[in-house]
Amino acid sequence: MYFFKRKLKPIQEKGRNIFVMKIIPIPDRHQRSYLIEGGSKWIIFDAGWSDSFQKFVSEIKNQGLHFEDIDYIIVSHFHMDHYGSLELLKQQGPTLLLFSSQLQVNSIEAANQFFVEKPDSNYVAITRENTKIVDGNLSRSLLKSIGIDGEIVATKGHSDDSVSLILDTGIAFTGNLPLYELRDAYGNDDIPKSWKMLLEKGITEIYPAHGQNYSP
Ligand SMILES: [Zn+2]
Repeated sequence: MYFFKRKLKPIQEKGRNIFVMKIIPIPDRHQRSYLIEGGSKWIIFDAGWSDSFQKFVSEIKNQGLHFEDIDYIIVSHFHMDHYGSLELLKQQGPTLLLFSSQLQVNSIEAANQFFVEKPDSNYVAITRENTKIVDGNLSRSLLKSIGIDGEIVATKGHSDDSVSLILDTGIAFTGNLPLYELRDAYGNDDIPKSWKMLLEKGITEIYPAHGQNYSP
């Protein structure tokens, strides 16, 4: 049994207790990161642009939260509008969960390099401090420990290092994975493969990094 600091209200669905979690988008330009509520702690999914940090600070405050309420950050993939404020967020306490495949681990150097030629940005280089490398199974137990039933899965297609956070309630945060209806439009087999896997896992609602949530 896990001790939930703040009890969420369960609703009955298909005979199972489903915990209602808050999902708070943090939009910046055309991109949106998410604050996701667990049974006891919260997660940040994607870390915005290099100047998005204040947007996170304001929204966390708006929600009556503190950085101590947020245990983990997951980055959908290492493109600039998704990892820009990662180090600043990580320095406040939340731990970065890097998906096990070497791809995410190796992405960090290139991610830092990208900003070397942009010294006027607010970018703070990503360090290995406060980082945990997890595989799919380990991600489930880590998420469970903060009251979230779900896992992190590889969803290649937009980039090779792309991951999605999927919840057992049928919700998936898919980053830049192309829209379901466009899955065959790119001539890239990884995209329909990722979608097939997501649907087989029972995903019914998508929270993408660009645009509104929708049902595939
Ligand atoms: Zn991207």
